[in-house]
Amino acid sequence: MKAYVLEAVGQLAYRDIQAPQLHEEEALVEVVSAGICGSDIPRIFETGTYHFPTVPGHEFAGIVREVGAEKHRAMLGKRVGVFPLIPCMACEQCKRRAYEMCQSYNYLGSRTDGGFAEYVAVPVWNLIELPLEVGYDDAAMLEPACVALHAIRQVDMKDVNNVAVLGCGTIGSLIIQWLASMGVKQILGIGTRKEQGDLISGLAECVFCNCREKDPAGFVMEQTGGVGAELVFECVGSVESISNAVSLARAGGQVVLVGNPAGNIDLDKQIYWKILRRQLTLHGTWNSSFTKEEDDDWHIAIEAIRTGKIKPSGQITQRFSCEDLREGLEVLRDKTIFTNKVMISKAFYS
Ligand SMILES: [Zn+2]
Ligand SMILES: [Zn+2]
Repeated sequence: MKAYVLEAVGQLAYRDIQAPQLHEEEALVEVVSAGICGSDIPRIFETGTYHFPTVPGHEFAGIVREVGAEKHRAMLGKRVGVFPLIPCMACEQCKRRAYEMCQSYNYLGSRTDGGFAEYVAVPVWNLIELPLEVGYDDAAMLEPACVALHAIRQVDMKDVNNVAVLGCGTIGSLIIQWLASMGVKQILGIGTRKEQGDLISGLAECVFCNCREKDPAGFVMEQTGGVGAELVFECVGSVESISNAVSLARAGGQVVLVGNPAGNIDLDKQIYWKILRRQLTLHGTWNSSFTKEEDDDWHIAIEAIRTGKIKPSGQITQRFSCEDLREGLEVLRDKTIFTNKVMISKAFYS
């Protein structure tokens, strides 16, 4: 089968490899759509995966073509989404089914072979069946959609009326879509390019601010009558953005830290003072919940896509065929043109 094999940092070879040998608890998934995640860029071009060679790609959906044991026969031919984290099932976090915080997990596309291939071996446990109304592109975006939902679920949204979202990339835009679907009255999106505002405004009701042109704290104060935002999602992970998140939160407000840090986070003393004096609550969030119950992030997201409450695929800005995946990576890496989600798909399925 064809696969993109990362052989060393920056060396991604598109070549024939042996199709995976299935263990009893695994299924062979034919990949139909695979999204490129922002984290794939440093993984492929800067830091590498945990070992070489590895097939990257952790956001994908497809069809079950083989199963490792007769007892999983019913899964054959099923359209599936994939939770990419393979928990150890033995640590304290796994015992209480908080698999996203597993202390010794495996991960499709970074620690073991993932979705930038024709076929992937996936534990049956990690599969979630898709209703017919959920297409493969949306299903390949379940992972980021669930990361976004998980961030929101760190907070009790009951009395929240206004929310600021710093960073309008894939996750920030998905958070905005979720907030709109939950009926949040005022959503303030803060990004760095006009196109981000145009894209998100077409998917959710939101007032956008380009922070290259206007100070985000000033913008939020203006929009909230000088009070500040009740809830802030920080989706960038830079000192500047985290400082802005603290500065534009109202007294008694909450900040959810979503963005992965690009380096050390060294906060100015005046910013730190604001956390204390405004009695802010800071939340961390990581990955998504997949307990296989109706109320986990993945079930909620599938239902929200099925009923049209959110449309993750609306954020796809570029599509490439499997043969042109490298081009997709370069688009996302070089950022010379506007991107939100770059999707690799097999055109003959929909
Ligand atoms: Zn990702
Ligand atoms: Zn564990």
